[in-house]
Amino acid sequence: MRRKRIAGIARDTLNFILEASRSTAPSEFAGLLQADGEIITEVLILPGTESSRMSALVRLYMLPNMQVAGSVHSHPSGALRPSEPDLLFFSRTGDYHIIVGPPFDEQSWVCYNASGVRRDLPILDVKFDDDDFDDDLD
Ligand SMILES: [Zn+2]
Repeated sequence: MRRKRIAGIARDTLNFILEASRSTAPSEFAGLLQADGEIITEVLILPGTESSRMSALVRLYMLPNMQVAGSVHSHPSGALRPSEPDLLFFSRTGDYHIIVGPPFDEQSWVCYNASGVRRDLPILDVKFDDDDFDDDLD
């Protein structure tokens, strides 16, 4: 899978993730991140438990032409460190992996790379067009 450069995540997308994680707790929220150009703008939601995540991922992986920037899931317990299964999952699904915990606000998440090392993921204010905003961002 191609690893593309990512500039950040759209604020609306992060807010969606935080909201979904909050409303899913105490169950886990999980999804795959997709980028439009260099910005993560899409979340493909996976069924929400640690045990089912891998099989759901495998099914999504089979979709043609699917490019995944990374993943997101919540740890309703609040520990934001990746587990061993998380690290295995990270190594297969792109290079930007968000773990969200309570209180599910803009400070309560961490991004890791495919090896489980913390990395920065800037929050970007992006205007969404209905059709396609390509790379012409302000
Ligand atoms: Zn986890």
